[in-house]
Amino acid sequence: MMYKRYECANCDFYEIAKYDLHKEKCPACGHNYHVFEEDIDEDKYSWLFNTIKNHFYFENFVIRSNSFLFIGNMISDFSKIREIFENIGYYPFIRKKEGKIYLHLFKAKKPGKSRVIIPIALLVATILSVFYAGYSWAVPLKEMGFIDNIWVTSSIFMMGLIFILGSHELAHKITAMKNKVDASWPYFIPMPLFIIGTMGALITIKSPIPDKKAAIKIGLSGPLIGFIASVIVISIGIAISPVVPATEYMRAVETFNATHPGGITIGFGQTLIYRILLDLFLNLPEGYTLVTHPLVVAGIVGVFVTALNLLPMGQLDGGHVARSILGEKYHMLVSKTTALSLIGIGFLGSFLRYPIWPGWILWGFIGYLISSRGHPGAMDEVTELTGEDKILAVIGIIIFILCFTPTPLYVVP
Ligand SMILES: [Zn+2]
Ligand SMILES: [Zn+2]
Repeated sequence: MMYKRYECANCDFYEIAKYDLHKEKCPACGHNYHVFEEDIDEDKYSWLFNTIKNHFYFENFVIRSNSFLFIGNMISDFSKIREIFENIGYYPFIRKKEGKIYLHLFKAKKPGKSRVIIPIALLVATILSVFYAGYSWAVPLKEMGFIDNIWVTSSIFMMGLIFILGSHELAHKITAMKNKVDASWPYFIPMPLFIIGTMGALITIKSPIPDKKAAIKIGLSGPLIGFIASVIVISIGIAISPVVPATEYMRAVETFNATHPGGITIGFGQTLIYRILLDLFLNLPEGYTLVTHPLVVAGIVGVFVTALNLLPMGQLDGGHVARSILGEKYHMLVSKTTALSLIGIGFLGSFLRYPIWPGWILWGFIGYLISSRGHPGAMDEVTELTGEDKILAVIGIIIFILCFTPTPLYVVP
């Protein structure tokens, strides 16, 4: 049977179609196609045609360099189609284009067994480096006489931060498992000698997400639970922070600075959620001030991590939500716009007297790279979202607003 072969002049991509695709350009890189005729032995694909026969009616069949593509309409539910193809080692993806369903079949890579040794080693390293960061926060407080025991205070900081990051990642892991998506164990990222001791944690998703609803749930579960954990940690932190007369505090800080020349003081920009928690739980008598306990710092870091993850870029948590709500094209646009805005915010800091975090420039560049890689999308992107899913997305936006500040941290002049 004569098929049409479309071969990219630039990359390895090709498509061999039963009927004309009316295409001139390679979808992978945008360069021109060379078009040939090719004789295809259809018997070679009879196993595929027999599998699909009663479940999908197709008008065109395309052999692509990395997948098979059927263009037509579904006869069975997608869940049935998914079941029969996963049984023979293929992941089906459906997209809607010009009123037709495009069914792509990708060979499923057997996900490697989730190894626990590396996640455990990283967790131990992160516990140590976060403990050390907590120690650096505790030493000045001890010298100024505001806490009793450095080791206890450092441990409390460490437990608070690991609790927040751990709950965030476990929420992703559990939601992934519930939706039959294969995800790794959390990888914690240690940052020895950095003032918070970590760059957060992440899990990797190793099998495709079934649908847009599941993508929203998997993406949002981490920031939602991490946010709640941060609120708990900040609230306890405020409760255990010493309240002392402002004059005594000023004297202690001045004495400390005089005896430790060259030291730097780190401040944290205020987020809405922190402001709200202070208003709720802090009742300062006239002339008194709060000595911020390192546990509060752990909670503020948790809030910052939540905001970072909710940025709608690539395959970050916020990226999963954006892809489900906006679709492929606008997800890419929003991803790149977000990344460029972060770079803009970072540079703005050099012009304003307001201490904007210069780290946004680096984060924006990383975000742009992440964004350029796009998002594979869920297997079923045809089934529409329900109102409930959209409410979840709005909750994500509200949490982001509560957690974002252009100045997560700065050096106090
Ligand atoms: Zn190409
Ligand atoms: Zn996350």
